[in-house]
Amino acid sequence: MAPASLVLMPSLHPEDPREDLLADLDAEQRLAVLAVRGPVVILAGAGSGKTRVISRRTAYAIATGVVPQDQALVVTFTDKAAGEMGERLRLLGLPGVTARTFHAQALSQLRHFWPSRHDGEALPALLPSKLPLVTPLARHLPGNYKFRPAKDLADEIEWAKVRSIAPRDYEREAAAAHREPPIPGDLLARVFDQYERLKVKAHRLDFEDLLLETVRLLEDDAVAAETVRARKSWISVDEYQDTNPLQERLLELWMGDRRDLCVVGDEDQTIYAFTGASSVYLRSFATRWPGALQLSLVRNYRSSPQVLALANRLIAAEGRTKQLVPTRPDGPDPVTAKHTNDVVELAALCAWITQRLADGTKPGEVAVLVRMNAQLPPIEEALTRAGIAYQVRGLQFYARPEVRTAVLELRKLAASASPDAAVTGAGLAGRVRALWHEVLGFDEAAEDEEAGSGQEAREQQASLETLLAIVESLAAADATLTASGLLAALEARATHEREGSADGVNLLTLHRAKGLEWDAVALPSLEEGNLPIRQAVSSEDPEAVAEERRLLYVGMTRAREHLLLSWALQRDVRGRVARREASRFLDDLRPPRSNRVTILTGSPMHPAADRAPRPGASGDPLFEALRVWRTEQARLAAVPPYVIAHDNTLALIAESRPRTRPALRRIPGIGPDKLDRYGDEILAIVERLLAG
Ligand code: ATP
Ligand code: MG
Repeated sequence: MAPASLVLMPSLHPEDPREDLLADLDAEQRLAVLAVRGPVVILAGAGSGKTRVISRRTAYAIATGVVPQDQALVVTFTDKAAGEMGERLRLLGLPGVTARTFHAQALSQLRHFWPSRHDGEALPALLPSKLPLVTPLARHLPGNYKFRPAKDLADEIEWAKVRSIAPRDYEREAAAAHREPPIPGDLLARVFDQYERLKVKAHRLDFEDLLLETVRLLEDDAVAAETVRARKSWISVDEYQDTNPLQERLLELWMGDRRDLCVVGDEDQTIYAFTGASSVYLRSFATRWPGALQLSLVRNYRSSPQVLALANRLIAAEGRTKQLVPTRPDGPDPVTAKHTNDVVELAALCAWITQRLADGTKPGEVAVLVRMNAQLPPIEEALTRAGIAYQVRGLQFYARPEVRTAVLELRKLAASASPDAAVTGAGLAGRVRALWHEVLGFDEAAEDEEAGSGQEAREQQASLETLLAIVESLAAADATLTASGLLAALEARATHEREGSADGVNLLTLHRAKGLEWDAVALPSLEEGNLPIRQAVSSEDPEAVAEERRLLYVGMTRAREHLLLSWALQRDVRGRVARREASRFLDDLRPPRSNRVTILTGSPMHPAADRAPRPGASGDPLFEALRVWRTEQARLAAVPPYVIAHDNTLALIAESRPRTRPALRRIPGIGPDKLDRYGDEILAIVERLLAG
């Protein structure tokens, strides 16, 4: 078999319009685009142009007559990515190329062949989620297992199904794979079996069935397989590092004995291993496809050298030698900021974003990436207070199922005639906690083993903890708050989040950030327990921790210019102030000699700081004194207090305790005008409090 490298298209005459497709590509990218035939694997780092090469190569193959437009298929990781790829191809004058996910392509094939193979019946309807069937099954589990999130059971069923494991084999296979099921293996196998029966009875197919049934169709039905192959003869796959075994099998069947397959991926960006995906297919491609052309793209076109240096160090610490080579001009040094507490961290995050916007970065070019949905509400509130418009991309906090259920319970309480509906303030927070415990099995003191070890269990636990913290702070701020008042406050937040601002700052999870890029990226809460997530650490599974590292790598490599990494020494966790440690990954980012900008706001921690009032929070004498001063100023000037200074600004002053005018001037929110007008008074307050 001739290696694919020998089947390059000849170079074109410089005036050939097809030359345009190659014009702005580097030598390696060109090679990849020219290699239009045979198996090709492109192993390349973040931002090296993999996705760009896929679209160009497709356009080039069509322009040079290697494949007709309607025979080319580009497989993407999400529907959104498929939409974007379709758009890129349209702009290249190719409206007829199919860009789809594995699922979408399988669905269209099954729909086509199903009736003729099932006595004229149409394809059963798709089950958009397993939850409606799994939830009642979960509720009937013995003991506390009935509170296990149905989504974790559904995810475990998905893990088994993408490996074509039947319910009766589940226990054995899970044990062999060292899985830790969310409930004991025998119970899971039972739920799995019951789920399958219910689904067949309801005449539905789930997402894995789509792939499974298509695999079955193409394995058993030679005519269908031939027809499918004749329609799509030239296939490319983006984000191939996150392919699962069923998708891989499907890809083999789509290819048959043809060889025009190109896959691109970056094993350091595998972030869906927990659902059953594996980068093994990417890594073994060249051996499985003899004669494959293996290429790498070595230059990075996305990020500044400063961002890349940091990303390179992150994976070098795991023994990886891959280096992302910069092509872009120097940018600012990434900022690693350590804060004394979460309030100050948020204030600094807002100040950082405000600075980016003031420097001319568009809000849509700023992103805050989080590990879990539960991190969103405090960030949303801080942004709202700072007057920064935002939009949550992907699943919103208040749209999460357990949050909706918790709010629904509160609505029932507010509407009831029970005396509880009239409870106010702190009593109300206690009542709400008890209510959620009763109905949702929520226990904020629960350890992981009790709450369940699945992804969703920890997301749910964290969301309810966050929601309860919001309830407690609302109740603490207003002793007359009733259940209906609380409900109204939560609903207002939910509406604000839902409406968002289309051109606001982006808030999203690291998982959703895959493939995307922004000018400025902030990664807050980089602490042990959050990234790496607590359960990855406690599982003592090195692979689980490695996936957390890759998540951070994905996050950092989204940034073009500005990168903020921050963490806090203390934060409210589960209703109490907890000490936090920097993420182990931050240690790995330390350069050989220090050229990082490290900001430490506040003084070093006092050993008894756990009990001391947190600087910048209510209870901190300096912060309180500044607020009293502000109230007085606002009264004198007959303006609202925030016109004098935002809480964020006061928190930062309390935190960094400036003793001089230049030091005060460096605090975001203190411009020349404010410095002139209030500088001396503020410095006097700081002086007085510190002396006392
Ligand atoms: P990821 O691993 O994050 O998915 P990727 O390898 O797919 O990244 P792309 O998204 O294709 O990278 O490209 C990253 C950025 O670099 C994009 O903005 C793209 O337009 C730009 N780019 C790619 N190649 C070049 C080039 N040769 N010249 C200029 N810009 C380029
Ligand atoms: Mg890409």
